[in-house]
Amino acid sequence: MEKTIFHKILAGEISAAIAYEDDEILAFKDIHPKAPTHILFIPKHFVASIADVTPDTAHIPGMLILKAQKFAAEQGISGYKLTFHVGKGGGQEVMYLHLHFLSEEKLKQF
Ligand code: AMP
Repeated sequence: MEKTIFHKILAGEISAAIAYEDDEILAFKDIHPKAPTHILFIPKHFVASIADVTPDTAHIPGMLILKAQKFAAEQGISGYKLTFHVGKGGGQEVMYLHLHFLSEEKLKQF
């Protein structure tokens, strides 16, 4: 399997504006923001897409949502949109599962 750009960001081979990191996820600013705040949340365990989630990995999308919820609370953001693009027809360009976090509100930090 070819490495995606998000594999390279996770490995530190390509730089990104990191907004949050822990043992399970990395969150970084989208390079082409579609809102004043646009962060991508990716799991450290690779899954290509929501279309590839299995019973063994079904906890991962929920985990990303919880991390985004906590991040929003910490940043004082009260309203936001969470989106998964699924497959090429769903607008997914990077085949590494990611949650888009978009808000008209600005981050306190970064
Ligand atoms: P999607 O269309 O759901 O696959 O979204 C991929 C997102 O990744 C797009 O919004 C891109 O702007 C973003 N993106 C692509 N390359 C980078 C990068 N090097 N750093 C940050 N965001 C990126």
